[in-house]
Amino acid sequence: MGPDVGVLVVGAGACGLAAAITAHDAGADVAIIEKLDRPGGNSALSTGSVPAAGTRFQREAGIEDSVERFIEDLIRKGGPTDCPDLLRRLVETSAETVEWLVDAAGARMTLVTTYKHVGHSVPRLHAPVSRRGQDLVDDLLAAAEKRGIPLAVGNGARTLVSDADGAVIGADIETSNGERHRITARKVILAVNGFAGNRDLVARFCSEVSGAQYFGARGSTGEAVLWGEQLGAALGNIGAYQGYAAVADPHGSLLSWTTIEKGGIIVNGAGRRFGDESAGYSGYTPNVMAQGGPCFAIFDQRIFDVTAAEEEFVELANYGGVKKADTAEALAALHHLDGVAVAANLDDYNKAARGETPDAFGRRDFALAPLTPPFHICRVVPGLFHTQGGLMVDIDGRVMRPNGKPIANLFAGGGAAAGLSGRTGAGGYASGNGLLSAIGLGRLAALAAAREIAGATA
Ligand SMILES: Cc1cc2nc3c(=O)[nH]c(=O)nc-3n(C[C@H](O)[C@H](O)[C@H](O)COP(=O)(O)OP(=O)(O)OC[C@H]3O[C@@H](n4cnc5c(N)ncnc54)[C@H](O)[C@@H]3O)c2cc1C
Repeated sequence: MGPDVGVLVVGAGACGLAAAITAHDAGADVAIIEKLDRPGGNSALSTGSVPAAGTRFQREAGIEDSVERFIEDLIRKGGPTDCPDLLRRLVETSAETVEWLVDAAGARMTLVTTYKHVGHSVPRLHAPVSRRGQDLVDDLLAAAEKRGIPLAVGNGARTLVSDADGAVIGADIETSNGERHRITARKVILAVNGFAGNRDLVARFCSEVSGAQYFGARGSTGEAVLWGEQLGAALGNIGAYQGYAAVADPHGSLLSWTTIEKGGIIVNGAGRRFGDESAGYSGYTPNVMAQGGPCFAIFDQRIFDVTAAEEEFVELANYGGVKKADTAEALAALHHLDGVAVAANLDDYNKAARGETPDAFGRRDFALAPLTPPFHICRVVPGLFHTQGGLMVDIDGRVMRPNGKPIANLFAGGGAAAGLSGRTGAGGYASGNGLLSAIGLGRLAALAAAREIAGATA
């Protein structure tokens, strides 16, 4: 008797769904298992933004872009990487990935031209009109359903099963009511995301953000890394992560980074600035983390008005997360901060913004600053969105051993695999790196898995 299924996809976020649809369209018999009671994972929580260079959507908008330019942007932002070949391959296939999403998977994606994207020198993010990752996930789910691909929710893989030669031959599953069973497969694609929801692994690999509030989906508990270590897989870019420097506290929603990008600052509990906020919402996370307690974003009325175009920001302000005062001292008093320190720091910053002195922390992008009264303040804490490191894979998503040989039949993509944001830290994350790896590598892994199956049966 043969295996139960040709390709077993573990995890039903963007990576798993893209992989399953691609494997099916390439002629493989495929099934998806999902640990939680609903699919979507972090992909559903994201803004659904996928970067690509050279798409027809960019050409229609008159935007010139190229593979080399995209690669340069990623390397400038991310620095050294453990997997340069993978980065190149994902960029080279990025236009194809986004066009496939629209043409084959029926996803309703458009090119985003209205806001600045962290790390990109030209507009290249493609996202649902709503900017809700849930819409992207819904479109992928509809495409999978249309093809009759089975998706079993409430079925978590507990462990991978290998044969005597170390080749993966399936997975042991536990259902949400505690029943256990085994699914055998010719190929297994791990699409289980990273380990941001696993405190021990975060402390081990991303210690600078250990203890930050986790802001992603419940399912990201690091099984890919744990199973990979058991099977002798290599890990890549394992210290890299995406953080968020300004989670409104105690509200738990995100304070829009527009408030900072447009010229706002962040002070600590002593009322003092502590770095160059233009490092970006992810890159500035360790700076906020290092303050050891809540910090305070400060911006002015003009910035408030610009940001008021964003629904989530208005909601936060309506719930009292953003407070207003006419002077620096009165603003400080709203959070029991040292008014003299806040006023002095604002003065220094405004001098730099006016070009009178260099900024003490090297900030050069001041947008609407100097800040003028009335001012607004929001208490913030750092958050962790997702981890960017994972299993070392080749350019087709095959999971590799430290000796450069693949673990037979095992593939990984998205947050389960080594990412595109450099080796370590929060500063290397460029917008969309997560979903490009999820959808792009999910597809490449599925194509390779289907090819291997066809090759073996030819
Ligand atoms: C608030 C927020 C905003 C973001 N915005 C963006 C953005 O705009 N663009 C971007 O590129 N990235 C963004 N990211 C990151 C992005 O969401 C992730 O990088 C991407 O969704 C990863 O996709 P994935 O398919 O690998 O994982 P997921 O979408 O998380 O899917 C993994 C699935 O596997 C399941 N699973 C886990 N373990 C098992 C198991 N043992 N057995 C079976 N199933 C399992 C999980 O429950 C989950 O459903 C954002 C993240 C957050 C938290």
